[in-house]
Amino acid sequence: MVKKLNVQEMISKMSLKEKAMFLTGSSPMHNYGSKRLNIKELSLNDGPNGLRRNTDEGDSLGGISQTYKSTVFPCSALLASTWNKDLLNRVGDAIAKECLYYDTNVLLGPAVNIKRNPLCGRNFEYYSEDPYLAGTMASSFINGVEKNHVACCVKHFACNNNEKFRFIGDSKVDEKALREIYLKPYEIILKNTNISSFMTAYNRLNDEYCSQNSNLLIDFLRKENGFNGVLMTDWGGIVDRIKSLENTLDLEMPGETPHNINYIIDSVKNKTLDEKVLNASVERMLNLYNKTVYEDKEKVEKTIFEENYKLALEATEEGIVLLKNKNNVLPLKEDKKFLIVGDMFENIRFQGSGSSLLNPYIFVSPKDYFDKQKIKYDYFKAYDQIEENDETYLNELKVSLAKKHDYDAILVFAGQSDFIESEGFDRETIDLPNVQLKLIAELKKYNLPIVFVLASGSAVSLPFKEEVDGIIDVFLSGETVGEAIYNILFGKVNPSGKLTETFIEKYKDVPFFDEFSKNIIAYYKESIFVGYRYYDTKNIKVSYPFGYGLSYTNFEYSNLKVTQNDKEIELNFDIKNTGNFDGKEIVQVYISKPESRLLRAKKELKAFAKVEIKKGENKNISLKIKIEDLKVFDPISRKWVLENGTYEILVGKNVSEIILKDKVVLKGIILENSEVLQGYLENYQDLNSLTDEKYCELFNLKYIPQPTFKRPFTMESPIYSFDKGFGKIFKKATIKVGLRIYQRAKKIKDPIKRSRVMKSGLFVSKLTPVNTLRSLSFSSSGALPYNIAQGILDMTNGHTFKGLKKIMKREKIRKEKSGEIYENCKY
Ligand code: BGC
Repeated sequence: MVKKLNVQEMISKMSLKEKAMFLTGSSPMHNYGSKRLNIKELSLNDGPNGLRRNTDEGDSLGGISQTYKSTVFPCSALLASTWNKDLLNRVGDAIAKECLYYDTNVLLGPAVNIKRNPLCGRNFEYYSEDPYLAGTMASSFINGVEKNHVACCVKHFACNNNEKFRFIGDSKVDEKALREIYLKPYEIILKNTNISSFMTAYNRLNDEYCSQNSNLLIDFLRKENGFNGVLMTDWGGIVDRIKSLENTLDLEMPGETPHNINYIIDSVKNKTLDEKVLNASVERMLNLYNKTVYEDKEKVEKTIFEENYKLALEATEEGIVLLKNKNNVLPLKEDKKFLIVGDMFENIRFQGSGSSLLNPYIFVSPKDYFDKQKIKYDYFKAYDQIEENDETYLNELKVSLAKKHDYDAILVFAGQSDFIESEGFDRETIDLPNVQLKLIAELKKYNLPIVFVLASGSAVSLPFKEEVDGIIDVFLSGETVGEAIYNILFGKVNPSGKLTETFIEKYKDVPFFDEFSKNIIAYYKESIFVGYRYYDTKNIKVSYPFGYGLSYTNFEYSNLKVTQNDKEIELNFDIKNTGNFDGKEIVQVYISKPESRLLRAKKELKAFAKVEIKKGENKNISLKIKIEDLKVFDPISRKWVLENGTYEILVGKNVSEIILKDKVVLKGIILENSEVLQGYLENYQDLNSLTDEKYCELFNLKYIPQPTFKRPFTMESPIYSFDKGFGKIFKKATIKVGLRIYQRAKKIKDPIKRSRVMKSGLFVSKLTPVNTLRSLSFSSSGALPYNIAQGILDMTNGHTFKGLKKIMKREKIRKEKSGEIYENCKY
């Protein structure tokens, strides 16, 4: 029986310095433990689609490419596309077992940011454009992890919806959108789990950094939702350590920041920080220890990777989305001969880049698995993923096909590389590389059925969709990618995934498309009209709507009966599998309130279920919606309200394909004052012309013009703005570090290692210019101490000697009488 820490006793024994250090990282993935008090270090590791446990070796990038082998589950975009809550729970459980195996206490995930714009580089890591779906799926995942006494850290709280300006950006969001869209997934998680910790986002929300934002941390989390767990920064997301503590932010990561530790000690000593505030944070941290460290946990000593491969395979197969299947081109027959084109057949992108990059225990590419199954094919690379516009391989293909093309069908493996889509930067376009589009045009000439396998972490435009016969979206499928794709293509598994984000026809259809990722201050002018809430309400034609996905069988819906009581609405209906395959259907329930005095989308997802139905079988489905969940945020009274009147209940296959309908009349309140924003979309036919000032005026937000940066720069100025003298040299040098790693990595022989290191280099080179000296220092795990960052700032501002003096004077953690022994403390 493991003995729990006595929290109060421990607090009383800790010195001031021990408390300050305990709340700070000691290395990229640990906090400071204390030998004197026998408190271990916590081990916190990424997340979210598998465990990324750093080895001790590290590398020039602080360990980004040095991690132990673990199971690479499919990315969250694919996991969400399963719409299978039970499966997400099992995936969470399996990842937790790997955490136990590798002695990890906190898993840094899931990430539930809303996909506000398809270009966000990190959309592959997020669940959906819909908050109900994101919150519900993430809750199941969290419950799966946390039942093993492994903590989840849900991230990035909140409104980190672009990558380019994540360190310096300010998301200006009206309260209605904030409540109904961006905070909703977190609220759902808080209601349905015992979530242990939150990671604050780097950016500001409505003018204040998230790591010290009282509206977010105190009002929303602590007061409204009674959250009593640990709040930690994103890596380098600390701004003012004292302000963060006062706003109940407990743990600063990755730490190794003597500057901030001393700041805490001094502030308590000079009474500008009440020690009670510090104690409250220590208490929350010790409670996390009792939940995850001092707990009788299952021992996982044998490798579980083979077992987890099977679960990862099941998840991938359930999440792959069949987008098109003209004349039942799929499933394919194994005795046919195929022309297979596209580098991704051999080198498929199977996971995202950045902090979620894992080291797979097993990896099966599509080519590996096709060969294992002895499929007859000829293969051509057709394009290069790194040299995106190189047409050499395409030309080779043309020459060969001119001589011979005796195939039964063509399979194209294509999509987006990590050099296009990654954490740390946003995509430039939703279009696939030109050479891939040219490839399709070329293949059309041979009059053979074409099946397109799309590997991409987020939505792309598919201008050729009418010209091919079959399309499957395999997202970033994880380590089982080859086997999963094979099983779907050859009908070993009937596809059952559905989209959790809209596939638009062209980028210009996105509201405020030309402003995204261009400005430091991002005005969320579309308000609640995110994703399908915009396209569906405005009747914009899309390629594939939210919730869309086909099956090899057909499902017929009938007999909807709706009943209601004070608390809930109950729906009963039948689904019959009328096709020739057993299958799974994802049924979706949307709510509409045509007569409303509030700003509302035409439809909103309120319930869903995934059901297995054998061929010929008729299943009765029963679903419930809580009346509470029909409340909307009234910005005038600043309350959640249930509007009086008629609500439509819409049961469908996706947001654009509603099959069954009914109505209920609910007794709610009659709003008198709140019609200011009604008709927002209608009144502003061309929503894109709405200015930032007008949005602020309509939604009661403070307007701030876009900032400009010039000398004297501050610790908060972005590095890209350093335009003269030493600052310019520093800027160039830091960017070069990443680029040099990228260029050198091109020569690495092992293709997996090559691509991992190249990606890491690119990541660093793109990330640095949009960083600040403050965040660069605080995220560097001691590599760029704060005094050096301050010295660089002085020199950038033309004060060379003052700067050099600061650089020479390395800050050490203040000495205290007691509690001097810390694990791994270099200061
Ligand atoms: C990412 C987080 C991640 C952390 C630790 C940050 O840059 O934004 O999602 O958990 O690094 O790797």
